[in-house]
Amino acid sequence: MTISKQQVVRWLDLAAEIFKEQQDFLTDLDREIGDADHGLNMNRGFQKVQEKLPGVADKDIGTIMKTTGMTLLSSIGGASGPLYGTFFIRSATSVMAKEELNLAELTQMLQNGVDGIVQRGKAEIGDKTMVDTWHGILESLNQEQETSFIDALDRAVAEAEKAMKGTIPLQAKKGRASYLGERSIGHQDPGATSTYLLFSALRSAAAQ
Ligand code: ADP
Ligand code: MG
Ligand code: MG
Repeated sequence: MTISKQQVVRWLDLAAEIFKEQQDFLTDLDREIGDADHGLNMNRGFQKVQEKLPGVADKDIGTIMKTTGMTLLSSIGGASGPLYGTFFIRSATSVMAKEELNLAELTQMLQNGVDGIVQRGKAEIGDKTMVDTWHGILESLNQEQETSFIDALDRAVAEAEKAMKGTIPLQAKKGRASYLGERSIGHQDPGATSTYLLFSALRSAAAQ
């Protein structure tokens, strides 16, 4: 089984819907340990992506991912704009000219994107950032053989949720939340949560 470029477009569209719905939730999380704008940032960025999608929907997956990244980079401020922008731009590199992806290709695409986040933000696993959720996702996907695509994504969504919740007891070591020191303990990281939502949207799009 593969994921088609139509499903990739659907993924980004769904992500825009989800970030609109979850804007207040994400902003509330960021109010606890940040500056109360993460939901606003994600919603604004993905609304812009949604506006751009019709213009690239007939292009290859690499072009769709790259356009998404450039759009996020130019429309979201703060830490998450450059990080998610870099994620999509770097994800694009291995999927240029592709019209569909098998599980290995999808995993490689996400790995390239996460490598970009880590190079840019220098966060390590356990620093209480979006990297924690991405790590859970990639570790799960890398264990998968070519079994059922949807089952593989389901297991990765479950690991993403675990990693997201796993940020609650951690002390933040990167980003704004790290300024709080020990007071960041006991709160779920907003970026770890938006990554969970973004990946859940991919799973939903792949199932359609
Ligand atoms: P800002 O903190 O600039 O207001 P956002 O609120 O949009 O930006 O995003 C905050 C999220 O960004 C955090 O919850 C965290 O997951 C993520 N983040 C911050 N710094 C880093 C970093 N260096 N590496 C990875 N993720 C980071
Ligand atoms: Mg913020
Ligand atoms: Mg901010």
